[in-house]
Amino acid sequence: MQGIYRSGNMTDVDGKSAAHTIANMAAETPVVDARLQNGAVETHCAYCALQCGMSLTVDGGESSVEVAPLDFPTNRGGLCQKGWTSADLLRSPRRLTSPMIRDSRSEPFREVSWDVALDVVADGIRSTQAKHGNDAVAVFGGGGLTNEKAYQLGKFARVALRTSNIDYNGRYCMSSAAAASNRAFGIDRGLPFPLPDLAESGAVLVMGGNVAETMPPFMQHLNAVRDAGGDVIVADPRRTATADQATLHLQLMPGTDLALALGLLHIVVADGHVDRDYITSRTTGFDDVWRVATQWWPERVERVTGVPVAAQRATVRALATGRAGRGAVVLTARGAEQHSKGTDTVTALINLSLALGLPGRPHSGYGCITGQGNGQGGREHGQKADQLPGYRKIDDPAARAHVAGVWGVPPETLPGPGRSAFELIESLGTEHGPRSLLVHGSNLVVSSPRSHRVADRLAALDQLVVCDLFMSETAALADVVLPVTQWAEEDGTMTNLEGRVIRRRAAVQPPPGVRTELEVMADLAARLGRADGFSADPRVVFDELRRASAGGVADYSGITWERIDSEDGVFWPCPSEDAPGRSRLFTDGMFPTPDGRARLVAVDHRAIAEEVDTDYPVYLTTGRILQHYQSGAQTRRVPALTDAAAEPYVDIHPDLAARHGMANGDLVRIVSRRGDAVGKARLTTAIRADTVFMPFHWGGEQAINRVTNAALDPTSKMPEFKVCAVQLERVDSQPAMEPSGAVVAGQA
Ligand code: SF4
Repeated sequence: MQGIYRSGNMTDVDGKSAAHTIANMAAETPVVDARLQNGAVETHCAYCALQCGMSLTVDGGESSVEVAPLDFPTNRGGLCQKGWTSADLLRSPRRLTSPMIRDSRSEPFREVSWDVALDVVADGIRSTQAKHGNDAVAVFGGGGLTNEKAYQLGKFARVALRTSNIDYNGRYCMSSAAAASNRAFGIDRGLPFPLPDLAESGAVLVMGGNVAETMPPFMQHLNAVRDAGGDVIVADPRRTATADQATLHLQLMPGTDLALALGLLHIVVADGHVDRDYITSRTTGFDDVWRVATQWWPERVERVTGVPVAAQRATVRALATGRAGRGAVVLTARGAEQHSKGTDTVTALINLSLALGLPGRPHSGYGCITGQGNGQGGREHGQKADQLPGYRKIDDPAARAHVAGVWGVPPETLPGPGRSAFELIESLGTEHGPRSLLVHGSNLVVSSPRSHRVADRLAALDQLVVCDLFMSETAALADVVLPVTQWAEEDGTMTNLEGRVIRRRAAVQPPPGVRTELEVMADLAARLGRADGFSADPRVVFDELRRASAGGVADYSGITWERIDSEDGVFWPCPSEDAPGRSRLFTDGMFPTPDGRARLVAVDHRAIAEEVDTDYPVYLTTGRILQHYQSGAQTRRVPALTDAAAEPYVDIHPDLAARHGMANGDLVRIVSRRGDAVGKARLTTAIRADTVFMPFHWGGEQAINRVTNAALDPTSKMPEFKVCAVQLERVDSQPAMEPSGAVVAGQA
């Protein structure tokens, strides 16, 4: 059924009094199990890591769901357009409601019963593993899965499938920041403090983040800094909506964030802003770091990055002044992280924050702005190829023994580390790679770099199984598609960008024919002879997760659903039910490293993986826009969002456009050595004249990830999404559309 908007602020950040309703919904939608306030279910948004608090009021008589924002600490009564319209997902006419299989990929799907579909999957797994070994079956998860599903998926891979090959799309999101945080601080939690602390800071440097579009209610916290007389500095090749509201914009050349970070550290030292006491008492490695930074004097940094010396100095002055006053914060997001040197870039920015003595001070420190809804929790409990629950390392004998004990299996039966996301995809269908793949909560055909090659790898599989809400681009390539529950149809927990564990509450019944992914895993495990230990009850799974995480870095053992319900969520680490979760990290002067000190690590700038040249003379950078989330799988099914943003645009400077004979609205083909994509030219002086930008939420010919570079960061295995060399062509014909008339996509 089509959604009807009764009221609601559809374009603004935080229309606090408005509400948004879907009417004429097809099925009755009684409350299932929920925290009720005046008849409304309190839960959180379907999409990003801000996890805005919202209430869903279900009117059985009208069969409608009304969305209203809550005064939750991250959103304080605000929602973005995606949040306001999120209930539209619940009764989308394009929702999958029956399992589907086909005998060959040249045939159409046919609907079958769950028993038939699950038997096909289980038979495929058994025959693949009998012929090729356990690692021949792989699992690809997602950063939008609840903690319970992410945990169970990791266990399912290691215990039911006994495969080492599991990874997830969060590898494309925060993995560089995670790797850098772990090596510097011994812990990886997006923000080291509750988000409202940010508003109390005197200066914030945002490296490569555009929260005004990706998570608009976040802007309340940034704008509070500015409105109180503080500084907000944004480093981005584009003058984004976030940069527009900043006190200073550093319009650096794509791929030069690391050089800028080294240059800022140089000025910190040269101008006498280093916190010597802090460096001496709380850190190691400063001298090695300085030996590199000494080479990055301001004029050299200006030549490499394009950021004027005066702006570099102003940035350092602002951070030092902020530190001396209310506090100073350095934040990174995908713009700085999605590079083949992303881990080192974040490391350099952590070094900067440590040289200023920020981590552990009030309203100060380094943080990563997490992207996906459960990007934080999704990377803590075993979806990553090298991890076990609690952020434990899978090659650590003590960690293996602990988790194996909780799972009731001998430690030696647990597989070792597997392949990272893109390496896993590259290996699919190859001689020694997996022959069968199970996909949960991910549309890797749209979200992976060099994406048409990803489709080739999927085509080489013996069996592809996709669990999804919609017929995503990835599901459309599958042998088996299993329709699963979403967001307001299920209970569970999420961990937001602050490290706050929150409750996702069921408000409506799922459509008939749809199952939860916990049920799918339990049913498959039973068919594979592992009936015990795979509950379909999320509360039971969470209680097991607590035990599995106990003693780990991400310790959830003291967190219960009841505590989350009675508080505004609970921060991890939380090792005791009798003590509060640790909302602010490092305030006791110690870091969770072997010697209690933070580690500065010497890193140096290096060139991007693919420089521009005469054949490919323009830089491409990619990102998100206000109306869409990740691969667009969900948001491209919401009419209000597709009405507002139906197709991708290409931001191009008028000078560059003139050189190519292009005008506003022309179709532009962006071509790299890997592939091409088409979008509509949007002439703007907000972008550098050597760079074009295109958002990545669309599939087909509009998928810019056909163009992006899969060069990986050696530590985090993050692909270089954010910069590559391209050429531009003006085209006259429209790109091919999916049969539905709108370019279709999948989850994540
Ligand atoms: Fe909030 Fe993100 Fe949802 Fe927007 S998409 S309402 S910012 S959680």
